[in-house]
Amino acid sequence: MKLTEEQVYRYSRHILLPEVGGAGQEKLLRSRVLCVGIGGLGSPIALYLVAAGVGAIGIADSDHVEISNLQRQILHYTDDIGKHKTDSAREKLEKLNPDVNIIEHQGTVSSKNIRDIVRDYDIVVDGSDNFTTRYLVNDACYFEKKTLVSGAIFQFEGQVSVFKTDAGGVCYRCLYPEIPPQGLMPSCQEAGILGAAAGIIGTVQAVETLKQILGIGEPLVNRLLVFNALSMSFNSVNLKKDPACHLCGENPSIREVEEYHEPECEVENLPVS
Ligand SMILES: [Zn+2]
Repeated sequence: MKLTEEQVYRYSRHILLPEVGGAGQEKLLRSRVLCVGIGGLGSPIALYLVAAGVGAIGIADSDHVEISNLQRQILHYTDDIGKHKTDSAREKLEKLNPDVNIIEHQGTVSSKNIRDIVRDYDIVVDGSDNFTTRYLVNDACYFEKKTLVSGAIFQFEGQVSVFKTDAGGVCYRCLYPEIPPQGLMPSCQEAGILGAAAGIIGTVQAVETLKQILGIGEPLVNRLLVFNALSMSFNSVNLKKDPACHLCGENPSIREVEEYHEPECEVENLPVS
């Protein structure tokens, strides 16, 4: 793939960076990234990846746009209320950059389809906010040997990590072995969320995804970045692989992607933060 004259202009601020250059930009244009959830985290993730010229972006979500989403889900506008989120997102993303192929996955992700969806992509970015989807995506990425850029947000706090299990890195289950009991963790619709804080976490996920594609810098592999908006602090803690992990440990009990039960407080199939 050779860059056209228009692409040289469009991506000139990338190409100027010695770490990216023309070759790095061509790499981005050849890459395929899946965004699971196109809400509070998925909006900045998809916007930056599309603007960056990542060649193909899959967007998976089963929800429709609601008025209460608009406080933080910046890909969706007031006129979009009632539309399917993937349709609403696609309209804007295609206008932003016609170089990028936007692929919609409109239904609910489940144990039956998740591996087939994930298989088509190089990197998966999780912007969902429910445990069912997080475990599902983690397990599918493990079995399909895909890098997973995971993010979560709660009220004023957020976390990001990159799970690279095919290179011996930790997985989400090493960090959180079991789904919390029903009703223990309040959902974002119960607990609230500072909209702009989702923008920070989603943008960190977009940066980590671009670094993975380009092979530059120090990735958040085996590290958990913890962000607090009130103290405006970023801390990172080192993570260790759990030898007893049910998925990636020495004696794994999980051999295939299974369906998990959703905590009671989650009301939608794929609510996004
Ligand atoms: Zn693990």
